[in-house]
Amino acid sequence: MRKVIVVFLWSVIICDGHLALAQSSLAILDSVRKHYAIERQTLCYQYRVTGFQKGEWQSYYPGRRERSPFSQEMRLDLRRRLFSIDAQTEFPGGYKFRTVLLGNDTVAYTFDINQNRFGKEVRTGNPAAVDAGITNIKDDLPFLYLIDIEEENLITETHDALHGLIQLRINTPANGLSLFVDPRTNYITRIERIAPSFPGVVLQSIRYSDYKKVDGVPIATSIAIYENDRLVQKRAIAGMEVNKKELEYPRWPENYRVSSGARGPLVASKVGNFTYLIAGIPGDRNTVFVDMGNYVVVMESPLNDEFELRVIRLIKETLPGKPIRYLFLTHFHNDHISGVRSFVAEGATIIVSNPTKKMVSRLLNITFSKDSPGTSVQQKVSYATYRRHFRLKNEECAIDFWSVRNSHARGLSFASVPTERFVYQGDLLSIPADGTLTPPIDVNIQFYHFLKRKKISFERMVSHHGHNFITPSMISFN
Ligand SMILES: [Zn+2]
Ligand SMILES: [Zn+2]
Repeated sequence: MRKVIVVFLWSVIICDGHLALAQSSLAILDSVRKHYAIERQTLCYQYRVTGFQKGEWQSYYPGRRERSPFSQEMRLDLRRRLFSIDAQTEFPGGYKFRTVLLGNDTVAYTFDINQNRFGKEVRTGNPAAVDAGITNIKDDLPFLYLIDIEEENLITETHDALHGLIQLRINTPANGLSLFVDPRTNYITRIERIAPSFPGVVLQSIRYSDYKKVDGVPIATSIAIYENDRLVQKRAIAGMEVNKKELEYPRWPENYRVSSGARGPLVASKVGNFTYLIAGIPGDRNTVFVDMGNYVVVMESPLNDEFELRVIRLIKETLPGKPIRYLFLTHFHNDHISGVRSFVAEGATIIVSNPTKKMVSRLLNITFSKDSPGTSVQQKVSYATYRRHFRLKNEECAIDFWSVRNSHARGLSFASVPTERFVYQGDLLSIPADGTLTPPIDVNIQFYHFLKRKKISFERMVSHHGHNFITPSMISFN
């Protein structure tokens, strides 16, 4: 009997090295699956996360990697592809958002519980949004990646010489993923993937520690996310419930309505003698441009370079023959400046406060390379900077740019066109597009007092986020 086994093993190793490798990958996979008791699980999970994000593109001080705290309630029924992520996040200036992402097999809904971003509009997303939500939860419970792996998708198994770990590379539908397993304990200690992150792609590494068993399932209670070896997020897992038959999902809040989500073609509409609005930019954003006679001034460059090329095309169709000489950026947060390269390639001078300039030039240094749209060489960038105030004018029209002392972002500024009684601002006051009004936060009050002190009055205020027709009657703070 013993003889037979020996002969059989020899034949595997000698005849086919690849087969031997695949078998040992599967053997590792099997023992890790057993360790995580995957066979016994009904694949329902419910838990809480508290933690913080760390980064420099949403902080108050330019260049400082500040912490933004968050908490999440997660629920998942993997077999039925049902999940919910109830998330609270905080940003400087008093911003507190709470959204519930509800996934139902092929469609995901986002509810704005605090009603201070989208109001009572429910956003819908397609299967990709469901997959993204489930991936968020799988990243907390990495053993879930080991369910239903097709053998052909388990590519390689290598030993990590430095840490004594075994690396299992898996092809997932979205992208490749590597799981690192400690062969002595069978714990997954790390996963790695290439992932998009502002302003490019990074090696994302998620590290797992402080394992505790919950209903026989090992759960990592401490998770740290690194991008290119820099810590960007810490997550502490608590209140884990495994294998509950029926999960309680948050109920659909009352009086919310599903927005069509359908956005027509990008259009520019005249909102003053010289002022134009481009409304309905994805993510509920508004851009404004001003006709200054022989040149154009544009406000903000959100989203990305490709999208801003469309904005530039639209401006040129609206005001043929007029160069875009200036781009004004309210502040350095990445959701306001991500498309700046397209305007630089256009030859625009960037109007920014000094703190904003610091981060915009950093972004351009990182990303202004041969793959920039519209240019193939590093381009000289010109800035018009100011500390408190800057003015552009011709015989008929003037634009004032004001830096406001505020608690959201250092150097945060807004623009006013006095002759049009028009104001454009971003993140000083955001009212949802559906007009839902919520109590003011710190940065709103700071802005309100600034307008009073400088005696800046307006008939129409366009907010970068959300509402594009804010009137004085919608604002009353005491
Ligand atoms: Zn901001
Ligand atoms: Zn913003």
